[in-house]
Amino acid sequence: MILKLSRPNPAVLAALEDLGCRARVLTFPFGTFVVALGLDPSALAAFQAMDGVAWARTAGSRPILAAREQCPEGTRVTLGAIEVGGETLSLMAGPCSVEDREQILTTARYVAAYGANALRGGAYKPRTSPYAFQGLGQAGVELLREAGDAAELPVVTEVMEPGDVAAMTPFVDCFQIGARNMSCAPLLRAVGRSGRPVLLKRGPSATLAEFVLAAEYILLEGNAQVILCERGIRTFETATRNTLDLNAIPVLKSMTHLPVVVDPSHGTGLREAVIPMARAAVAAGADGIVVEVHPDPSRAKSDGDQSLHLPEFRRLVEELRPVAAAMGRRLDLPDALPFGGTQIPLIRRAMGWGGSR
Ligand code: PEP
Ligand code: MN
Repeated sequence: MILKLSRPNPAVLAALEDLGCRARVLTFPFGTFVVALGLDPSALAAFQAMDGVAWARTAGSRPILAAREQCPEGTRVTLGAIEVGGETLSLMAGPCSVEDREQILTTARYVAAYGANALRGGAYKPRTSPYAFQGLGQAGVELLREAGDAAELPVVTEVMEPGDVAAMTPFVDCFQIGARNMSCAPLLRAVGRSGRPVLLKRGPSATLAEFVLAAEYILLEGNAQVILCERGIRTFETATRNTLDLNAIPVLKSMTHLPVVVDPSHGTGLREAVIPMARAAVAAGADGIVVEVHPDPSRAKSDGDQSLHLPEFRRLVEELRPVAAAMGRRLDLPDALPFGGTQIPLIRRAMGWGGSR
């Protein structure tokens, strides 16, 4: 059972305790809830009638905390200087894998100069083949942090094991849960408890209902800072790596209050399809884009075929600008940004980037 409180009433918790139930109180910007799992549904009416209880529901197979009705105005997730789900379009960019210091620093400085508001790169990589590059692990997490600091960007990286969360937390601004782990309950609970925002990617064969229920696990740990990421699903089509399901954007927005971003890199697997599908995602109402960018995709240790070259990231931003404006969104750039001009590196003075690509 889940109760929503309209005001604090210690008698509610005392009554749950009398029934032998260990209840948890969760406080979100959109309300205070009591989670009392395992309680007999016959107790519902009595709690419903108690002072301070707005409503009581039996917890079943539908999301409650993540449901749109809990926060019709939409949740905003704080990530560095921006709020994902707010007016500014979020652009999370970086290489599929952190490979070495120069690669991640070069990428970080470039994408920061051209309007990214988060640096995303993988250190623990969930590769399809066990023989493929598995990532630099904790050393990669620390390099990512260094590059994020140098470019003044918050960092997002994937965690694959609950046991890694504690060591990673001091270095990470937002945990990514990869598509392959979307339904790994222990991992969802661990990032839920980390106190960090979470970028939750949709499983390649997950329905949208399953996707929102995966987010519900994180909210049930008291963490509503969850960003949903559509990254393509597996269909009969083989011309693209996945099929980017843009239906997910409006449908998720009706199902949940959590912000929705789109990853056209994994969604298509094809560099040339990334920019058009990013435009389409923004036009469909996405709150942001997650995109893979590499200084030399031909030498990338993972996902080179779908990674943008650095100047292509600049083109992405350029092409997103009018679409974002049409959707009432801003990009994190000065209005008069001279695309292609030499002044761009001056925008972020701390970056120390020479301007060559
Ligand atoms: C990634 O973001 O590099 C990644 C592995 O993505 P996904 O989990 O969506 O496959
Ligand atoms: Mn990748």
